[in-house]
Amino acid sequence: MTWQEIALQLAQVPSNYNQRDPKSLRHHLARLKQDYVAQKDQHGAKAIWCFESIINVQEKYLEAFADLKARRFYAAWCTFERVEIEYSFLRRHLLAPHSLFCLDFILEKTHQWQSLFPYRMFFSMEFIKKGRKCMICSQPVSLRKPCGHLIGEIYDGEMCCHEITDIDWKSISMVTNPHHKYAVAFPADTDWNSNESGKYDSLIHVIERLETPFDEWKTFMSKRAIPREEFNEQEPNSFCRCGSMEHFSECCFHKSEILVPWVHVEIGDPDNYSIPDFLLLETTPQTHQPAPVENS
Ligand SMILES: [Zn+2]
Ligand SMILES: [Zn+2]
Repeated sequence: MTWQEIALQLAQVPSNYNQRDPKSLRHHLARLKQDYVAQKDQHGAKAIWCFESIINVQEKYLEAFADLKARRFYAAWCTFERVEIEYSFLRRHLLAPHSLFCLDFILEKTHQWQSLFPYRMFFSMEFIKKGRKCMICSQPVSLRKPCGHLIGEIYDGEMCCHEITDIDWKSISMVTNPHHKYAVAFPADTDWNSNESGKYDSLIHVIERLETPFDEWKTFMSKRAIPREEFNEQEPNSFCRCGSMEHFSECCFHKSEILVPWVHVEIGDPDNYSIPDFLLLETTPQTHQPAPVENS
């Protein structure tokens, strides 16, 4: 498989996502990368790394969608965070239009999904990194003793990052805008995945109406006042429906009406994704440089 054939498969993800074999694509990319590294072609190896990263973003998004379909809500939340992280690695290196591989669609939808989750409070861990190791050269690194590799840069088709080898924990605090989205502060005695108190109603409303991960949909957020009587059956210890993540008894219990988050969802036709000409051309000679990377 050439990189052009792989790129075409990645660009056609809205139509081929459940037929393609990501394992095989990764296998072919690994072999192409080996060749570029052997030829000391950093530009080519970096382009292959970009394709690997595109697969990571797309596959994580598909996984999160499947999690939602299966009502594994917290798993989906964590996987959407992985979509964001994988994309953040890739963004600065990819020169091709991000719409070509549906990356802008995937990011937009990831943020839309995240906005429908009821998670409001998170743990934030504060620590000092006492020891770090470069993942490219395996050397211990510090501010005074850098190894020469830059975090986030690509060397021989691998991204440089630092492994933390020694850590000094300082504190844990509660925040609303966390560094790590997975660190959701779930109230005690609640089941993360059950839809008790209807906390996942918005997610269910949307996911039940979508057939594929690439269906187009938009949300419009507002609040609606619901009379208190409608919540007479609700357990005082359950989540308050106003979305505060507080217990009902400690939040809106004594109010005459409760402002409930209201999501209006519009579900439209999938976008018409067009494939650019350069991917539909006959396979170009191997010496041709892959397109979607920045010039280094
Ligand atoms: Zn290094
Ligand atoms: Zn409330």
